[in-house]
Amino acid sequence: LLDQSFVTLATNDSYVKGALVLGSSLQQSGTTRKLTALITPQVSDPMRNTLEKVFDEVILVDILDSGDSAHLALLKRPELGITLTKLHCWELTQFSKCVFMDADTMVSGLFTIRNHRTHCQTPTHLYNACHLLMHSLSGADQGLLNTFFSSWATTDMNKHLPFIYNLSSTSVYSYLPAFKAFGSNTKVVHFLGSTKPWNYTYDSRTKSVEGNISDPKIVHPEFLNMWWDTYTVNILPLLE
Ligand code: UDP
Ligand code: MN
Repeated sequence: LLDQSFVTLATNDSYVKGALVLGSSLQQSGTTRKLTALITPQVSDPMRNTLEKVFDEVILVDILDSGDSAHLALLKRPELGITLTKLHCWELTQFSKCVFMDADTMVSGLFTIRNHRTHCQTPTHLYNACHLLMHSLSGADQGLLNTFFSSWATTDMNKHLPFIYNLSSTSVYSYLPAFKAFGSNTKVVHFLGSTKPWNYTYDSRTKSVEGNISDPKIVHPEFLNMWWDTYTVNILPLLE
């Protein structure tokens, strides 16, 4: 099992915060696999040292950039060109198997939510949710991976991860029925989008995140609060 690893990537100190929470959440889940973080030279020494407390291996790699500014401008996410750096994952030949996880994901345990309304549940809702999450085409890494593994989307559905392995923190709002049905089984939550958990202000006294009330992550802050709770309890002490 030690020749298998979870791998993440952080090209700057902000994403390192995400990587640390992800690493800590994997540890808490009791994983028997190695934890590997890929970093680029922009990451500061103190943050790199902290990563080494949580990850088994911290590997310095150079930045790969898609340079596809037209597509990325269209997505309003110029920073995503850099996500190609995750392709270094294929060079980790010391491992027989790697699971790459974005630094803005976290492994979640079971939790309960209040069900104040009942919604009918149709396979279409789920299909649409998965479709939106997994099949997006862009100028960043997903576009490239989708092109390279072009038959992936249509051939073997068994190779597709279920909804609960990539639950978008914003889809909680858009796909309330699916969330109501499967939210408590969530395995991996993904804070995709331009505002990441570390961009919010957290009040550790009230254990809640401050923000705009129209923000879907604030309307359903369960996951965001969980991220901050892990950060406050498990990561902050390591940074001191
Ligand atoms: N990433 C990074 N630095 C950046 C942007 C992205 O290290 O400036 C890495 C990080 O692991 C991140 C992944 O690339 O989780 C994909 O980017 P992001 O999660 O921001 O994209 P989204 O999920 O919002 O589409
Ligand atoms: Mn992401």
